[in-house]
Amino acid sequence: MEYLGKGLYKIKLPIPGTGTGTGFFKKDWKYKEFIGTKKEIKEAEKKNKAKIKELDDIENEKIYRERAKKWDFDRKKETNKFSKYKKYFNSKPINIKNFERKIKDYYIIYKSFWKWRENFKYPELNYLQRLKTLKPKPSNILIENLAKSISELRNIYLSLSDYRASIIFKLFFYYIAQCIKAEFKVKYYKSGWFRGTPVDLDISRIIGNLSKYYLNIKDIENDTKANKYSCWCGKYKKKQKKKFICEVRNCKTEISKLPREPWHEDPQSFVKDNVGPLNHYNEPQEYKRHEKELRKLLLIKNKIKILTIKHPISKQIYKVTPNEMIIDNFFRLNFHNDKNEVEKILFSNFIEITKTPKINNRVTLYKDNENVEYYWGELKNNKPHGKGFSEKYETNEANKKVFKKVGIMWWKKYSKNLNAKDLKGYIISEKYEGEWKNGKRDGKGELTIFDDPAFVSNKDWSPSICEKYKGTFYSGELHGKIKCYDSITKVWSLVNYQNGKKIN
Ligand SMILES: [Zn+2]
Repeated sequence: MEYLGKGLYKIKLPIPGTGTGTGFFKKDWKYKEFIGTKKEIKEAEKKNKAKIKELDDIENEKIYRERAKKWDFDRKKETNKFSKYKKYFNSKPINIKNFERKIKDYYIIYKSFWKWRENFKYPELNYLQRLKTLKPKPSNILIENLAKSISELRNIYLSLSDYRASIIFKLFFYYIAQCIKAEFKVKYYKSGWFRGTPVDLDISRIIGNLSKYYLNIKDIENDTKANKYSCWCGKYKKKQKKKFICEVRNCKTEISKLPREPWHEDPQSFVKDNVGPLNHYNEPQEYKRHEKELRKLLLIKNKIKILTIKHPISKQIYKVTPNEMIIDNFFRLNFHNDKNEVEKILFSNFIEITKTPKINNRVTLYKDNENVEYYWGELKNNKPHGKGFSEKYETNEANKKVFKKVGIMWWKKYSKNLNAKDLKGYIISEKYEGEWKNGKRDGKGELTIFDDPAFVSNKDWSPSICEKYKGTFYSGELHGKIKCYDSITKVWSLVNYQNGKKIN
């Protein structure tokens, strides 16, 4: 500050807009002279600062917008890799009536996905880590059908008018993302984020890209059907000037745009939310509570009516339909990785008609207080005869006690691939699959002996194999050249048997 005499001073003020103090590209300031009293100079500096800040904010927002645009452009470009499937996302959306008629088709597509998926371990997505050697690849038809179904269900999803259609919509997105990752060897992430593995993140990004660029599902800001506003507490319902903040003590939030009705959450991100194979409820208590809530919601008659709910912890009041809560809970409870639940909740009407009675009707081969053996398959004079399979289970007081402790979640995972899902508190000891004669194992067959889960089980809690025998059976016993597998040495060997006894 230079003193000019007579109470006047001269200073240099930065000219607003000429330079930048923040941001990536630092520009040098240009200056202008200002002459005035100390008071006037203070005033001018203050004004100048405010103007600079105003221009700075505009500049920063521009940079932010450009970055968002670039991000959007890059994401869109990523989808070029699988653009050969884009046209299949253009099917005509169907209404609820047609959905009821088409549900059989969706069931068949669901089944065909699993026919492919069962080549790999589940529910974890680890199989998608080894993209180079992954075989078999999903078929084109499967991917096309999934894409068609997804686009058919788009409008029902956006209107949230049916929970089954919306779950199938989300589920098929989860499936198609796995197929696309496998077919095109898509890999975006190298490291995980919190509990999400790189594969989980890739899947989520593929779903996000597909829903945004192939299915044109908009985010709230760009959704023309979203036209309501609110602060967090709900006191302000109208769009306010920028940077307006609600003064309520527990709120203190800006006014933001609300999702289209009847949505509570953002329909765009909801497509990919909670589809990962993680357990979102780790505590059995919490899991049970939400499972109970889901079963209750399924019984509500009017599932499209908007309810006003108070959040148990934050006490926030929000509006949501039973349909949205059902879909949300379904995925949080991991039911989308549980074929039983999927089939029960989505396809039950259809399955009951077509389920082959052969598989449905089990025959009890043996039963006492601690053991039971069931059979499913072809019969003659009510005895196993032809092709079929049996499972042997056992229990005791200790098992029952342990089951009470580890609970229903454990049983669900343990029994995933078993057929007697009602035998809670039991453990499987052996399984035989093959040919039968007059109630006995006879002909070609495969016998599997399982480990006691108290000592060892697979990572996904399913029963682990202790021994395996492949070959011919005679009158219930191993007979002939038998391929035997030992889980300790992990080796197959050829052994001669005669009436169940090893020879040589
Ligand atoms: Zn508020």
